[in-house]
Amino acid sequence: MTKHKIAIGGIKHETNTFSNVKATVDMFKQNEWESGQEIINNHRGVGDYLGGIISKGEEMNVELIPTFWASANPMGLITREAYQELLANLLSSIKQVRDLDGICLVLHGGGIADGVEDLEGSILSEVREVVGKKIPIVATLDLHANLTETMINEADALLGVNFYPHTDCYERGQEAVETLIDIVEGKIKPVMHFEKLPMMIPSSTSDHSPVKDINERCWKWEEQQGVIDCTFFHGFSHTDIPDMRLSVLTTTDGDQELAATISRDVTDEIWDLREDFYLPLPGPREGLEQALSEQGGPIVINETSDNPGAGAPGDGTHLLKEMIEMNIEHACFGFMYDPETAKAAHEAGIGSRISISLGGKTDSLHGSPLAVHAYVKALSDGKFVHSTEMYKGKKMNLGKSARLQIGHVDVIVCSIRAQTFDEQMFILHGIDVTDYKIVALKSENHFRSSFTPLAKKIITVDSPGLSCYNLQNLNYKRVNRPVYPLDKGFNRREDKGSSELQ
Ligand SMILES: [Zn+2]
Repeated sequence: MTKHKIAIGGIKHETNTFSNVKATVDMFKQNEWESGQEIINNHRGVGDYLGGIISKGEEMNVELIPTFWASANPMGLITREAYQELLANLLSSIKQVRDLDGICLVLHGGGIADGVEDLEGSILSEVREVVGKKIPIVATLDLHANLTETMINEADALLGVNFYPHTDCYERGQEAVETLIDIVEGKIKPVMHFEKLPMMIPSSTSDHSPVKDINERCWKWEEQQGVIDCTFFHGFSHTDIPDMRLSVLTTTDGDQELAATISRDVTDEIWDLREDFYLPLPGPREGLEQALSEQGGPIVINETSDNPGAGAPGDGTHLLKEMIEMNIEHACFGFMYDPETAKAAHEAGIGSRISISLGGKTDSLHGSPLAVHAYVKALSDGKFVHSTEMYKGKKMNLGKSARLQIGHVDVIVCSIRAQTFDEQMFILHGIDVTDYKIVALKSENHFRSSFTPLAKKIITVDSPGLSCYNLQNLNYKRVNRPVYPLDKGFNRREDKGSSELQ
């Protein structure tokens, strides 16, 4: 029997339309921009989607044809030129493959390019145009996808991660290959139904309720005969498009009615729990005071409102300003995006003292630059390997980096925007976070995978920012209304909230 021939690749971006930083070709090239064999070499053994696809493909003796793969950090709109180039690369490499049996793509679901609001719908349509109706396409998605009819129409199956932190990227990649091969061999005929809800939620971890309970309901349904997948998509709320939405996607083996019943059941539960997604969070000063009143440590404080992993600038100073003013002992902060300061520290050298204007340079929302004197304690090239479950083994490069001491506070400064996933960047600069009373970082939830086991307590603080928890602080103009929590006391329009396709 001849081997099944599967093309793999993808384009991944989560777009925060409130950000003024554009996703250019350079931004993608700085992060991931790979062709052909490079894809296999860079992802084999890594705990990401492509790592899972490659491992399962090789295990099942599939002939994997790597095409094109690119991803950029979350930020503002993808420029028109960047999208044209990304798409041209993906399509031309797929066109070169002969006798293809199927396509396995890694997408996000929350991407937007200048003039293209449904990036993944557009990519899937273009790929479909190239390969025709008969070649199955299966794609993985992030749970922060804003699902659309086009995406569901053009793909044969869409598999989203269930966990936030997204510790199951690798497993979803593996599952995508298994599902694709089952379709190729005629063992299953997936049909999908997605049910959307007129509501949006702030960043919500699956470690706790209500997401934990909703996931359990999805998994219970997955135990039923004929159910291939049931996933709760949180949507990506830090973006202002009409189609921004929460949804539940159910995939069954040919049973459209069952898929609809399940999606409706889960969305009913989410709607009932809508108020539980909104907890009152302390501001930076209040959060620090709470942390200092605790015995022992480390107390991890995450500045949820400035998460570069959701398109925020990563140079916000609201939390760091308070830490410096309070001159907290045994405190560290990681990290501040500030290439100018990193360069100044490298030029001055280890052991020198520098006067700097730290952070607050991208916009005015995230706080002003801090005029401070700092001692240069350590310098690095910003290169490390992730230990977080989500991206285990992935090589990172945050550019010229430095550990500065400002009063008692240790601050890591880097040259490429990035959220804090694990403690590797601290270790690189000689910091053992378990020795500290307070470990402050910029992330909404992905940090939990590595920091929950070592933290005595986690305190989330919110302040003005592009990834703020309090969504009422964002100036939404285009999102379809009514939408909870911007609007309250309206009736959920059952009849307009669903979509039956395929
Ligand atoms: Zn996500």
